[in-house]
Amino acid sequence: MRKPIIAGNWKMNKTATEAVKLINELKPLVERAKPEVVVCVPYTALWAAGEALEGSKIKLGAENVAWADSGAFTGEISAEMLLEAGVEYVIIGHSERRQYFGETDESVNKRLKQALKLGLKPIVCVGETLEEREKNRTRRVLKKQVLEGFKDISAEDFKDIVIAYEPVWAIGTGKTATAEDANKTIGFIRSLVRKVWGAETAKALRIQYGGSMKPGNAKELMAMRHIDGGLIGGASLVAKDFADIVNYKER
Ligand code: PEP
Repeated sequence: MRKPIIAGNWKMNKTATEAVKLINELKPLVERAKPEVVVCVPYTALWAAGEALEGSKIKLGAENVAWADSGAFTGEISAEMLLEAGVEYVIIGHSERRQYFGETDESVNKRLKQALKLGLKPIVCVGETLEEREKNRTRRVLKKQVLEGFKDISAEDFKDIVIAYEPVWAIGTGKTATAEDANKTIGFIRSLVRKVWGAETAKALRIQYGGSMKPGNAKELMAMRHIDGGLIGGASLVAKDFADIVNYKER
């Protein structure tokens, strides 16, 4: 059985002070949560968020990580810096990084290797754009993202990896893939992993859905065989909404 994992991606929202406030609202609402719960917060809020999370079951995540140990990489944050701030999970290759900051499958692969080397747990995002979907290229795009993004990654490494399938057209748009559609595509990603890294790896791998997931659709999405959690953007900024997604089973 794969333990579901619900992660919030706060993106470029919340100052350190605001982060503490949101975490303090969230903590009591998810204290009996069955899934693993993660909040991925901006770098400047990491220390404060880590302190606010102490003693709770919510885990701390970051939104990116540098591929180098240290050095002349202005604006980047190293894995060691994240670990010292108490970070356990890190998002890699989010579509907004790919779209606005030149992230490629190659840079995703480098960041992923660095995260694994230092002991961070990566949440690696993949997903097709609307144009790619309309041209029936979804599977081709996902295959490239997985084969190149996970190049030279061992089956053993997959134990710490989570994949987030996020159709780009569903992120922040209010449009959600239907549960059946998301399940089918995530099943395809799982079958790709099976072919390259083996049946055991594919069976154990947690794959989240992301893209306008909210309290109203979480239960249906989470009921799907291949969907093991959610990466939540907008709804993770409202404590009650995020908690309602985390507690989808009880609702
Ligand atoms: C995301 O940014 O990863 C995301 C899924 O955003 P939203 O939930 O707002 O669509």
